[in-house]
Amino acid sequence: MDEPVPVQPSPFADQGLIGTFPPPYQSQAPSTSIIQNQPQPSKSPQFWDSGIMVVFSAELPPHHTILYRVLIDSLRCRSKVLDDIFGIPPSTQSQTQGTEVNPIALPASITAEKFESFLIGWNEFDDKVAANILNLLDISALLEADGALSYAMSKVVGLNLPAPQLLGLAWRHRAHPQVRDWIEPAVMGLLSTPLRCHNVEQESSIGLAYPIIAKARERIQEARLVLAAIPFQLAPRDILFPECPDELHQYCEKSWLFFWYQNITVELIHPTKPPLSYSGLVQLVEKTKFENLQEGCKSRTMECMKSYHDYPTVPDVFHAAVSDIVQLFNIPHEIQIYLDV
Ligand SMILES: [Zn+2]
Repeated sequence: MDEPVPVQPSPFADQGLIGTFPPPYQSQAPSTSIIQNQPQPSKSPQFWDSGIMVVFSAELPPHHTILYRVLIDSLRCRSKVLDDIFGIPPSTQSQTQGTEVNPIALPASITAEKFESFLIGWNEFDDKVAANILNLLDISALLEADGALSYAMSKVVGLNLPAPQLLGLAWRHRAHPQVRDWIEPAVMGLLSTPLRCHNVEQESSIGLAYPIIAKARERIQEARLVLAAIPFQLAPRDILFPECPDELHQYCEKSWLFFWYQNITVELIHPTKPPLSYSGLVQLVEKTKFENLQEGCKSRTMECMKSYHDYPTVPDVFHAAVSDIVQLFNIPHEIQIYLDV
């Protein structure tokens, strides 16, 4: 008899690769013990909306009330005040409050218009419209909505508001470091506008800063009066190569003084015309005809005058006024965060 041929083991069978693969009809449902051992999915603390709707009411002047039914979670994320209010355990709140029959009445300072600017979100409205930004500024400050407040604040200077209004806003929001950026444009506007041009409301907006502005304006007026009384000096000549010799230059000096007092002083001290700006002064001197003044002596003097960009003391007066108001308002500095690299 032939000896039986030994059966070769399958190359796939030695490691049990096929043999251990479950057949398709075999149930793959894990046992209860496996479920208990597997980690359960957890809810995202950031993106898990409770779905709770709350109804607010806000006044729409003069005699109308608007109801708003909104998801509360998105508002809690944006406002510390709303987060605190709605973070109170439900047992301590009225069961019906925040419903259509018993809405949460917003304070009178949060009008329907302001509340809507907050609900809409700052990415969806025209930031060139002053009312939009001012409404958002107001309500985000009330509701301590830091993101919206920071955005609204960054847009305020770009609105080119009247200087008294800008300063009034700076006073109201003086606890925020960003307000520092508003003081320079506000002071610049206030120093270039006669105080008598402000109405009562604007005077009220200037508030405690009024004496600082008044004193700065007085010092700027003094700078003009100094030049009215003591003319700008003729530029010195090159002693070695004078293009205007002494016998001629004495007429230059007489002409300069005579026509300065006759033509320039009268403009610097004019009682009814708007105060002469420094650039206006330079233009006036340039176009004034100084008889017997050598052209070279005048042109060198004009170059010297143009090297200044304002009346000599005015930049210092301006910066001092800005600094005094920042100090008066006690505006904090930006918090600097230094990271170890
Ligand atoms: Zn000369």
